[in-house]
Formats: sequence, C-alpha cells, structure tokens
Amino acid sequence: MIPNMLRSLVRGPATRRYPDQVREPFAGSRGELVNRIEGCVFCGVCARRCPSQCLRVTRDKEAGLGAWEYDQSACVFCGQCVEHCPTGCLEQLGTWAPASEHKSRVLLRAGLKVRDRAENRGGEGEQGPAEADETGFRG
Ligand code: SF4
Ligand code: SF4
Repeated sequence: MIPNMLRSLVRGPATRRYPDQVREPFAGSRGELVNRIEGCVFCGVCARRCPSQCLRVTRDKEAGLGAWEYDQSACVFCGQCVEHCPTGCLEQLGTWAPASEHKSRVLLRAGLKVRDRAENRGGEGEQGPAEADETGFRG
C-alpha cells in the first residue's frame, strides 16, 4: 500500500475526473452506433442479432416508409448488428456519447417505394428519400 501511495503522490492519481477529463479511445474501440440510413434496406437482421433487444425495424409498405429504432440506453456495444448488416450501413465510431441522466432513443426513417419496386424487379435500384429525427424520452 505504501508504494502505491508514494507512486500516487509523485505521479498523481491513476483515475481521471470524468467527464471533465476524457481519455482518448483505444484503437478499434467499439463506441457509438450510427446508421447511414440511406443505405438501410430495413431487412431487420440487426434487430434479430441484437442480444439486448434494443433495435426495432419496421416496414410500412402502404406508407412507403421504413423505420429503424435504437434504444441507446440498452445497447451493450457488442457490434453484432454491425457485423451482420448486409449493406454495411451500420458503423461503430471510436467515440462515446456524453453521459446523460436521461434515456434516449434514435428513430430514423427512409422511403421504401423505389427500393421495393427494385426488389420486385429483382434488381438494385435507387434509394428512396431519407429523413431522420432523434427523440429523447425519460424512462
Ligand atoms: S441489418 Fe443493416 S440494412 Fe438491415 S435493417 Fe439493420 S441497419 Fe438496415
Ligand atoms: S451493438 Fe450490440 S447491443 Fe448494441 S444495438 Fe448492436 S447488436 Fe444490439
């Protein structure tokens, strides 16, 4: 114990005053999850692979819209969704969202119509128009 105390006196404490002092992330760290919704085909693979059930993917063919919903508070940042996404539109950044006392949910929507016509033809086709919004909620 005394060597540790002496070391701390000379070098300073081993801990940081988070969030005032934030350490640079390690290379390859699995941080914030982002979805480039323009590339999403709303297949639902990410939601099925997610072990913490924090993803929900819905397709409304009548409205021509798909929705990708992400509960950040429940995510364990395992990277399963990124690994299995067939289009590569999911990515984990090396950074982390700031600490918050509130739960937050991300909701992204994009059009399905052009994409679905392309699927019916068995081809690739353009993306539908994309819109995005982020909503917060208290849990
Ligand atoms: S796996 Fe990828 S393409 Fe499929 S719904 Fe999830 S984010 Fe979209
Ligand atoms: S990183 Fe893991 S826990 Fe988070 S949304 Fe993806 S599959 Fe789910």
